[in-house]
Amino acid sequence: MITFEKMGLRPELIKAIEELGFEKAMPVQEETIPELLAYNRNLIALAQTGTGKTAAFGLPVLQQLNTDNKHTEALILSPTRELCIQIANDLQNYAKYLPAISIVPVYGGASIENQKKELQKGAKIIVATPGRLLDLIRRKYIDIRHITTLVLDEADEMLDMGFKDDLDDILSNTPESKRTLLFSATMPKEVEAIANNYMADPKEITIGSKNSGTENVSHFYYLVNAPNRYLALKRIVDFYPRIYAIIFCKTKAETQEVATSLIKDGYNADALHGDLSQAQRDHVMHRFRCKNLQLLVATDVAARGLDVNNLSHVINYNLPAESEQYNHRSGRTGRADKRGMAISIVTPREALKIKKIQESIKQEITLGKIPTGREICEKQLFHMVDEMEHVNVNYTEIESFLPVIHKKLAWMDKEELIRRFVSVEFNRFLDYYRNIKDIDVVTKEESRKKNREEKERPTRKASPSMTRLYFGLGYSDRVVPQRLIALINETTKNRDVRIGKIDIFEDETHIDVDSDHAMEVVNAFQGATYKGFDLVVKISKHQPKDNFSKNPSSTKTHKNAKDKPFYDRFDRKKRRN
Ligand code: AMP
Repeated sequence: MITFEKMGLRPELIKAIEELGFEKAMPVQEETIPELLAYNRNLIALAQTGTGKTAAFGLPVLQQLNTDNKHTEALILSPTRELCIQIANDLQNYAKYLPAISIVPVYGGASIENQKKELQKGAKIIVATPGRLLDLIRRKYIDIRHITTLVLDEADEMLDMGFKDDLDDILSNTPESKRTLLFSATMPKEVEAIANNYMADPKEITIGSKNSGTENVSHFYYLVNAPNRYLALKRIVDFYPRIYAIIFCKTKAETQEVATSLIKDGYNADALHGDLSQAQRDHVMHRFRCKNLQLLVATDVAARGLDVNNLSHVINYNLPAESEQYNHRSGRTGRADKRGMAISIVTPREALKIKKIQESIKQEITLGKIPTGREICEKQLFHMVDEMEHVNVNYTEIESFLPVIHKKLAWMDKEELIRRFVSVEFNRFLDYYRNIKDIDVVTKEESRKKNREEKERPTRKASPSMTRLYFGLGYSDRVVPQRLIALINETTKNRDVRIGKIDIFEDETHIDVDSDHAMEVVNAFQGATYKGFDLVVKISKHQPKDNFSKNPSSTKTHKNAKDKPFYDRFDRKKRRN
């Protein structure tokens, strides 16, 4: 690894970047900085956003400025206003210990008068969006005839946004002698054409593989029918309690609709699209950047200006039209050595499209199963417990309240306290996920496999695995099997629960239910009462021996004293008192 010193950077620049926390060079910097300092050559760098490009071109540009004249020497073109401001800020930070250098950002959507005033003071480096730059050139506030370096940052984005004619116009106004540094995440034909037309003998470097999603990103898709898109989104979001993501939509209307629904459903989300005013967009982006907002629902165009490094996920609520766009979207996660996940919600009609994207990005996009209600609840539960373990406790301030709290909760044992504490937050998830249905579309392959398995299976249906539940009520409460079955159906609101053997004793009952639904039944009965007393329902300590009900429908009432079970009874007594 070459250090910044060995690359030949000035001590003033090194001091400034050290203060910014740059300890070692990132790959794109290792490849470009020594080359740019040593040779006056054109350069094409294929690198995703977030790989350290700004310093890769910015540091050599700052080092090589000729301050003997007043000409604008470097022009940096970027697709969006936000990127423009960010580049100008970054350069200003790198230049902190150099003699004053005027770096002026000019971009659309802001007062041209202020920009004119700045330019009149002289601009050594201009960072610009193409449209506003041309406007200011025509008004003669900018003269780019003497520039020595032209940087085209995110060239693919600029062309994608329709700046091709503007770029041709700008490039033809620049001197032959300048060098051009082109940075792009992908290399579509249009970018190649620019390189061929305007850049003689460029040095080409590639950081990561050409036209591929970043290596730190895993790609998944879920197959659902179109009306279930939103349900799928919610389950995905719920499955990742720490999610920090952009959710990409197709249109402004869809963006607003999804964001509004998420907000209504209690998520920390907001929308970013072109129908918002610039001030509204700035506000949303600011909240997202400083993580006050967890989910940003956005269109591709609106999200362009947003540069956020530590996204955990990128979600394609709708697939983009082009593979390039997929690449751009997913390149927003998995940055700065962190792992990220790109998740696409795909309908059967779009299945071919996802295959094409997969071929184009040369990375596998794995078909996933939407998390089940149980999996989601488990994840949320452990997240909550984890948060509780790591919460900052203000011992001094809380101390004075503790005696009253202790007194109020004295009747509860530790188990009960934990159960209740967890339920405060958790009931919302349990309520929502108790009866959810599968929304994954069964693919042809899966259905073929299932048919094959069905055929291979013995004709007699195997009994499902059963779990024995303890119910704290018995024949002394005048319960009969039919009443118990009805009680389970009413309480779980789920008729799919399979009920097996029922053993009724004096004041407790053992009911075998299929294991897939056992926890659901227990959870549904949390806090339930029967004829005025708290009804305890829990997994019995004594499970069926082979865990398979031999006779799913047998019921028995044990009136004989010797049949009385001696276990599981403590709870009922305690609850009744
Ligand atoms: P960029 O691709 O220029 O937007 O850079 C992405 C992020 O990496 C920015 O937050 C930079 O400040 C940061 N960065 C750039 N170079 C380095 C480096 N050598 N060491 C640590 N961080 C860096």
